[in-house]
Amino acid sequence: AKATLGENLCFFQHGMDETARQRRQLAADLRHAVDRGELSLLYQPQRSLHTGQLSAYEALLRWHHPTRGLVPPDDFIPIAEENGEIIRIGEWVLREACREARKWQSTIKIAVNLSPVQFLQPGLVETLREILVETGLSPSRLELEITETAIISDKLRALHCLRQIKSMGVSVAIDDFGTGYSSLDTLHSFPFDKIKIDKSFMSRAEHSNQARAIIRAVLALGRSLQIPVLAEGVETEKQLAVLRDEGCDEAQGYLFGRPAAPPREREDASEPART
Ligand code: C2E
Ligand code: CA
Ligand code: CA
Ligand code: CA
Repeated sequence: AKATLGENLCFFQHGMDETARQRRQLAADLRHAVDRGELSLLYQPQRSLHTGQLSAYEALLRWHHPTRGLVPPDDFIPIAEENGEIIRIGEWVLREACREARKWQSTIKIAVNLSPVQFLQPGLVETLREILVETGLSPSRLELEITETAIISDKLRALHCLRQIKSMGVSVAIDDFGTGYSSLDTLHSFPFDKIKIDKSFMSRAEHSNQARAIIRAVLALGRSLQIPVLAEGVETEKQLAVLRDEGCDEAQGYLFGRPAAPPREREDASEPART
């Protein structure tokens, strides 16, 4: 029998309540995540396509929830941004990533994702300075990845923050480039050290001329502004061949390595170059 409109509405309403309830529960659980040691970082390699050398590892956050198991960052970071927990979590990520990177070979950088909320937080520069002193990591080995969302709400403030961060010797990459609000203006007026092409273009590159054209355009942009370009989400040799053809500088993706335990605890800590 067909459900009546009333029943459907009721179901819909119930579904909404359930989602809202789960979200509230996650938000509450998130408040203890740092203290209870439920967070960890995985590391994914970034490689130079010119030399084949490992250039950096990106730190990627994981939450091991006591009953739900592994909660992916896309599911909890928006919640943490909403309830402000991202500040504490983000600080934990920075400290942990810097401490880890301090143990590696000194030419390898650590790339850390920064939430827009964190980026616009007044104490960020102070926190960064403290963490660098505390861990003893050279600022030149830290790269922060931010998205354009961090910039568009208050461009003047963002520019000021960016300049302060850069004056410490820390570099800044623009993440997920090509999606959302990406504009030539932003790239031109902000002193970024790297452009990361969003992985959505890579997944379509083999079949879509349009995706390929966008990759080519971003690479041309990078060249004219003299900013190196990294392609993320590289999974196949074919995609890599496209990137080489177009002269991309760096790449990251499952083809080179999945996010994994700290490199020091793995075999490949000082692995030979892959070309
Ligand atoms: P992102 O910064 O764009 O990170 C890249 C995402 O793509 C990661 O997902 C990574 O595991 C995944 N990835 C890497 N290579 C490949 C590939 O070849 N193919 C495919 N399909 N995916 C690939 P993950 O780890 O689930 O993180 C998702 C997002 O969560 C990140 O996107 C970032 O926006 C956010 N995030 C992760 N860690 C942190 C953090 O410490 N702080 C903040 N604020 N955000 C974080
Ligand atoms: Ca990133
Ligand atoms: Ca990205
Ligand atoms: Ca992303």
